[in-house]
Amino acid sequence: MEPDIIIIGGGPSGLSTALHLARDFPHFALLGAPRILILEKARYPRPKLCAGGLVIDAEILLQRLGLDVSEVPHVDADRIQFDFEAKGLNIRVPKRHALRVIRRDEFDNWLAGKAKTRGIEIKEGITVKKVIPNQHHVTVETDQKIFYAQVVVGADGSNGITRRCIFPNAPVHTARVLEVLTPTHPSHEFVEVERGQRQWAYFDFFPVANNIAGYVWDFPTQVSGEAMRCWGVYDTNILANKERPQLKEPLAKEMSRFGFDLNNYEIKGYPIRWFSPENQMSVPCVLLVGDAAGADPFLGEGISVALGYGALAAREIGEAFQRNEFSFKGYRARVLKSALGQALLARWMVAQVIYSLKWKWFQKLVWRILKPIVVRLAWIFILNWGKRMPPTL
Ligand SMILES: Cc1cc2nc3c(=O)[nH]c(=O)nc-3n(C[C@H](O)[C@H](O)[C@H](O)COP(=O)(O)OP(=O)(O)OC[C@H]3O[C@@H](n4cnc5c(N)ncnc54)[C@H](O)[C@@H]3O)c2cc1C
Repeated sequence: MEPDIIIIGGGPSGLSTALHLARDFPHFALLGAPRILILEKARYPRPKLCAGGLVIDAEILLQRLGLDVSEVPHVDADRIQFDFEAKGLNIRVPKRHALRVIRRDEFDNWLAGKAKTRGIEIKEGITVKKVIPNQHHVTVETDQKIFYAQVVVGADGSNGITRRCIFPNAPVHTARVLEVLTPTHPSHEFVEVERGQRQWAYFDFFPVANNIAGYVWDFPTQVSGEAMRCWGVYDTNILANKERPQLKEPLAKEMSRFGFDLNNYEIKGYPIRWFSPENQMSVPCVLLVGDAAGADPFLGEGISVALGYGALAAREIGEAFQRNEFSFKGYRARVLKSALGQALLARWMVAQVIYSLKWKWFQKLVWRILKPIVVRLAWIFILNWGKRMPPTL
């Protein structure tokens, strides 16, 4: 039997769409007769380049799905530090951690396991090659067979085939990102290494002054139970028309302050497609979620965002089946109006301002002098949107 709904990609956005459908429209996920099929090209637990920082909104959305993310191996950062040249403001959340850091192979494997126990079929090791929407159904060509579905969800990430098939000529805004894992301390401890002992997550925006429209990060993490640190550099590319140093340079500079030599570690890179109000998100019978629709442009934070898109898409799909109308005309407008959409819009505006006004004095003003105002505004407009999402239908 052909499924009603095919979800392409089993990362957080695809799994969240399926889990929200199963919760709010249980007839789609009857055990033994699933009507939702996830097609995932890899096999769990599969690697995914990501620092794994989960903000509070991700935890709220997972809790509402009845999931306890503390089952996944994690490290909790009790404070997030936003700096410009090593000095700035910090965010703490009363009586809880500020950021939970997971590894994506473990997190996605756990989430996929939960989806399977809730009646969702996942086919692993199958790659979608082409998505062809017709007026009344969608043809999905894979490396193994052709599927047909009433609705297809493109949850296949920043370079996803779904977006490329339905919007072949649309402009794409992507950030370039590099990541490195290290032990907590460099082997030659000739510098003070206090940072490795602290369970804090650091962001430093010093690269902005050199036309890299982003920041370097340093998070505590763990790999197979061993304490590690995850470093990286994020560049929205907003200043791509200016002269820029290689992306490695600011990362190497930050790591060397703590005695780490970037050349000693494996560097990995991957793009993040970010949200812009002009991003298109649907055509008849096909919706995009997660990075395929657009992650947070300001920090490149996309796990909570992916979970949020999943909640919105599930509602859209469930209601489309109730009305038997699959144009998905209003999807983008409803995303923009939602608490998630408002947070993404706010972050898009913040990214345009903070990264375009790249002068040192401005960055110092934002991160050091206007601290209380910045923290308050961030709390209202940028964080905490998860609570404002409708809990259930
Ligand atoms: C270096 C780096 C660090 C990051 N750090 C953070 C962080 O700390 N916190 C945070 O919140 N976000 C972070 N992000 C962003 C976050 O990783 C993404 O926003 C998030 O993974 C988006 O989820 P998704 O489900 O939309 O896509 P993905 O997680 O990319 O999942 C897409 C899935 O689709 C599958 N797929 C792709 N193509 C096909 C195909 N043709 N057929 C079948 N399956 C397919 C892939 O195998 C994959 O499983 C980071 C990203 C990068 C690159």
